[in-house]
Amino acid sequence: MRITVLAGGVGAARFLGGLKRAAPDAEITVIGNTGDDITLFGLRVCPDLDTVMYTLGGGINTEQGWGRADESFTIRAELDAYDASPDWFTLGDRDFATHILRSQLLASGQPLSAVTEVLCRRWQPGVRLLPMSDDPVETHVVLSDEAGRRTVVHFQEWWVRMRAETPAAEITAVGAAQAVPAPGVLDAIGGADLLLFPPSNPVVSIGTILAVPGIRAAVAAKTVVGVSPIIGGSPVRGMADACLAAIGVATSAAAVGAHYGPGLINGWLVDEQDKAAADDPALAGIEVRALPLYMRDLPATTAIARAAVDLALELARGQA
Ligand code: GDP
Ligand code: CA
Repeated sequence: MRITVLAGGVGAARFLGGLKRAAPDAEITVIGNTGDDITLFGLRVCPDLDTVMYTLGGGINTEQGWGRADESFTIRAELDAYDASPDWFTLGDRDFATHILRSQLLASGQPLSAVTEVLCRRWQPGVRLLPMSDDPVETHVVLSDEAGRRTVVHFQEWWVRMRAETPAAEITAVGAAQAVPAPGVLDAIGGADLLLFPPSNPVVSIGTILAVPGIRAAVAAKTVVGVSPIIGGSPVRGMADACLAAIGVATSAAAVGAHYGPGLINGWLVDEQDKAAADDPALAGIEVRALPLYMRDLPATTAIARAAVDLALELARGQA
């Protein structure tokens, strides 16, 4: 069985840990969001790709959900001694090594997809990890003050430094319209038996991947099951509600499912708290199932992944 997953960072990485156990014999391809990528101190940092790679490869800081375990911060302290900026993005010493090597390989002319493959040789994540595109795409956030003045910041500055407290007037994936899917991406979608959306951010993770020309149409042609990242009106972990507000979508499982719509997803898993979504006319044409969706631990996450696979298989059979 070939399963392809569109992935952001922490939410996706946890889900994928469960999916590997729920479908141990499946060939899993992960198409990772690169809209969060940023150049810091001359180094290319790919937070979502690294979160997936470290999590599945056993190198993640499990409490945090991102960054390396057993991390130290000597380089950061030295940068601080120079008053080097930005000072709001945490990079540990072990993590720096990843970004140094990535930047070296990119500078030598290798595309991000090839570089990611090199990094994964060490981590052996047990899935094929592909960036959505080898072309640079950066999510930017437009902020507007009371006087209507607009400023634009990189998504990471809004999310990490500003904690998404200033409302976003607009969120744009700069470069996406000109980007080309990375080698293997469209084949991994077209050749998949099932496509899954983990409980990733619908705007800046899944939404950004879908903004790369060709990907949305390829996904729409398949049997797709998504897992709601919203439970009982809350984004569970993080501030996804601030991103949904920027695109005018309510923070609810039903609204996110309706935002994807029956043209894109066939099945939608919601938490038991949100089971009323099954009768929501906005979700007509989408098979909705309710089950506990809090990814508390690996067994709970495996059960969620198994439910996603089972529903996708059931819907794929129905369509055949
Ligand atoms: P990021 O790139 O690190 O923000 O990670 P993702 O985009 O992959 O996923 C982040 C989203 O996962 C958050 O916005 C939450 O809505 C969702 N999420 C986090 N933990 C859980 C959980 O335990 N259950 C569910 N259903 N969603 C979760
Ligand atoms: Ca992310």
